[in-house]
Amino acid sequence: MPSQGDADNDTDAELADLLVRLSRARETKLGFPGAEDIDFSALLPFFAFELNNIGDPYTDPVFDHHTKPMEREAIEFFADLFRAPADDRWGYVTSGSTECVQYGMRRARDIYGDGVADHSTAAHYKVPRVLVDFQMPAVAVDADAFGEMDYRALHAAVAANPGRPAIVLATAGTTMTEAVDDLGKIGKVLDDLGVQDRYIHVDAALSGVPLALLPVDRRPRFDFADGADSIGFSTHKFLAGRWPGGLVLATGTPAHHAGPRISYTGAADTVLTCSRNAHTALHLWYCIRKLGREGLRRRAESARDVAEYAVTRLAQIGWEAWRHPHACTVVLRTPAPHVARAWQLATGDDGWSHMVWVPGRTIDQVDRFVADLWDKLAEPLTGEPLAGAGRLRYVVPAA
Ligand SMILES: *Cc1c(COP(=O)(O)O)cnc(C)c1O
Repeated sequence: MPSQGDADNDTDAELADLLVRLSRARETKLGFPGAEDIDFSALLPFFAFELNNIGDPYTDPVFDHHTKPMEREAIEFFADLFRAPADDRWGYVTSGSTECVQYGMRRARDIYGDGVADHSTAAHYKVPRVLVDFQMPAVAVDADAFGEMDYRALHAAVAANPGRPAIVLATAGTTMTEAVDDLGKIGKVLDDLGVQDRYIHVDAALSGVPLALLPVDRRPRFDFADGADSIGFSTHKFLAGRWPGGLVLATGTPAHHAGPRISYTGAADTVLTCSRNAHTALHLWYCIRKLGREGLRRRAESARDVAEYAVTRLAQIGWEAWRHPHACTVVLRTPAPHVARAWQLATGDDGWSHMVWVPGRTIDQVDRFVADLWDKLAEPLTGEPLAGAGRLRYVVPAA
């Protein structure tokens, strides 16, 4: 048995090792969208406090250790950003985008108990899982080669259930290609089929905030003004949260929001869980206070610039790669396994991988990745040379 002192030494050594491992791994963290570029050291003193935003964000609990005023300010900021109606908006900090989907589906089922849910095959894997958990009938409609919902397939799926309400789970920024399902086209499909009873939840885990910061004429149609009933995003992706979290926004304030409160907490029970993360609310509030729309927009733009640089550099060495114009995700032909693993790429089973150039990742990292890819090529690429560089041309996959 080690003495207490030895155990302490082991613990310290293991923590030091973990820090070294994580610091090294950050250099090659390309496949997953967790940004880390915002400095939150001003919030460190708050880790001395156990905080809890229990229950409805608009009813303060009987205890003081919460950050609900900040949560409410964050809800208002993001409700404005996603163009929620000024007189009909609500939301709360969740455990992540998955809970946002759960909230949206709970509400859709409450309104339209006999509805059929439709999502695309490119939706996040937790979307069909939530629908199974909630025992809701669901249809997976095809996505196109770029990851966007196939609206003819949606038309066929909705037409196959005449007279039933439609619950559509759209994705704004799919996990693999950052494709955006177009709420304008989804709305038209439902209009053409005469479906008035409809509910649309938008899963905007990574891309909601950067998309909403685009000029209106270049902004894909995905928000409340475009027909959404609820939207959720993750706080640990674009917004650089250091632990998983999410924010869901919705029209239709829950009826019991101002109604009976749980007597011993003092808060209304309108949310899916009991306790909620008050540090996440503080993190969101700090982002909007310190960066605001302009600071967040600059981060989104610089991320897109780095992503575009990555596509160009890959083109120069002849490696197939592409990106959606609004995206910080670059889709590329899957490299050899040791390269894909070394750079922590996320790989599908279709021969394509992706890397996500969230804010804070740099053109130096692009250069190092491309140099590594080039060095480790088993066979030289062939094809038309590009000016100044590699051996093959840039190819976009056929639609
Ligand atoms: C990451 C992601 C999710 C899951 O989000 P969590 O916050 O981990 O629950 C859901 N949908 C999409 C499109 C994602 O990219």
